[in-house]
Amino acid sequence: MENWREQAAILVERNIAPQGIANKNILGALKAIPRHLFIPPDLRTYSYEDIPLPIGEEQTISQPFIVAKMTDLLGLQKGDNVLEIGTGSGYQSALLAEMGMKVTTIERIEALALKSREVFRQLSYNNIVSIIGDGRKGFPDNAPYQGIIVTAEATKIEDAWLDQLADRGKLVLPLSTENGLCRLCVRQKKVEEKAGYIDTWYDYCRFVPILPGVKK
Ligand code: SAH
Repeated sequence: MENWREQAAILVERNIAPQGIANKNILGALKAIPRHLFIPPDLRTYSYEDIPLPIGEEQTISQPFIVAKMTDLLGLQKGDNVLEIGTGSGYQSALLAEMGMKVTTIERIEALALKSREVFRQLSYNNIVSIIGDGRKGFPDNAPYQGIIVTAEATKIEDAWLDQLADRGKLVLPLSTENGLCRLCVRQKKVEEKAGYIDTWYDYCRFVPILPGVKK
């Protein structure tokens, strides 16, 4: 795919920026990442469309706009430490790494984790630590995280994620709601003397579910 830079730039200018993403670090990084390398060869012609695509193992790479939106909601500064639950293709991790974050990403399906590691190596993302495991437990060894992003639908917020979040850190996740629909939620850790959280709700969305355990 020789003209991928041009296609990525068109995607950003037509679909991402006009939908309200203004963060230059995000827009610049989206233009700099060859998304087609995260997509199975037979579907690569669709790599720069604003759509989710299957990546095997019944999983999907998220729509670029949703990736940009969730990243924006994390509100990160360069150099921040970030945890991702649900590596999948690795594209979301690549975006965070390209933006200058320290990334730890967890995937429960071994085959997907191994594939994403190969792409990280190919693109020289040395600031991504890839873990095969159950992301519901987070990854305490690299905590605290200024941001935690969950890229599969959660039915509840795990205590482990909140414990591993830094003060003022944000957890961004698609959370099941009472009406059966899934909605983007941001939970920020407060630092005032009365510990607590601020929850903010955003768009309805569709994600694959969080599943327990590791699949070899
Ligand atoms: N961020 C990904 C989106 C992948 S879809 C991307 O950019 O491509 C969500 C991923 O979450 C799937 O790969 C799925 O296997 C993974 N997942 C589901 N439950 C999980 C769990 N408990 N721990 C870790 N990963 C999980």
